[in-house]
Amino acid sequence: MSEQVVKRRTFSKSKINTFKTCPRQYYFQNRTELGRSIRESPSHQVQNGNVVHKVLELFNDPNADESVIDIHMDAINLTDDGVQFCEKNLANLFTILDKYGLGRAELHEQRVEDDELDLSGYIDAIYLKDGEYWIIDYKTGKFYKPKMDDYIFELYVYVILARRCLGINASKIGMFFTQFPKKTFVIDVNEDEYDKHYADMLAHMENMKSNDGAMFPRSRSRLCSYCKFINLCDGYTDDIIKD
Ligand code: SF4
Repeated sequence: MSEQVVKRRTFSKSKINTFKTCPRQYYFQNRTELGRSIRESPSHQVQNGNVVHKVLELFNDPNADESVIDIHMDAINLTDDGVQFCEKNLANLFTILDKYGLGRAELHEQRVEDDELDLSGYIDAIYLKDGEYWIIDYKTGKFYKPKMDDYIFELYVYVILARRCLGINASKIGMFFTQFPKKTFVIDVNEDEYDKHYADMLAHMENMKSNDGAMFPRSRSRLCSYCKFINLCDGYTDDIIKD
């Protein structure tokens, strides 16, 4: 089977997210060689989250039955904790799907690429219910209430990509928190919000291309302790970042 070649895009939903969270981290990762040269091992939590995403992806694949999911979970040699984590998240997904009257997603792990904007992303799931499309992001981590505006922005980036690249006009967007199902939310897509988030997204992308170091300030937070650039963050300078 031939491997699908994934074109590296200037912009992606995750790059925009990083820029919004810490512009300096985005700069290190994407505008310097440091992003490639400094490697980090994914945390146990991230590894488990990746496995759950894979299992949810398999659940949405009409060609993959339960035995494929079992085989996959066996093959990745999960610890007992990892198996429990997967089973809990999968069971919670079924509870969430039941609550919203949803089954398998119409599209899953859908790569979307916009040549004009040089922007890409992966949409976890697009459900079709009563003739309406729902764009859903699966979250295996915690829900942070102060990040609600960021969550909504992320979802609108998917709405923009789905509309432009797939011709799909989503009516609803949401996040399924498979570890904390009570935090799951689904909201209606609103045209005014669409326009606002589209404009915000373009503004971020413009700033991400900038050669003005002022566009890449440090944004210190508790997340700094997980940042792979923490040891050079204060001392680093180059032609753009001169501070
Ligand atoms: S250490 Fe903190 S401020 Fe520095 S790049 Fe990383 S996240 Fe940003």
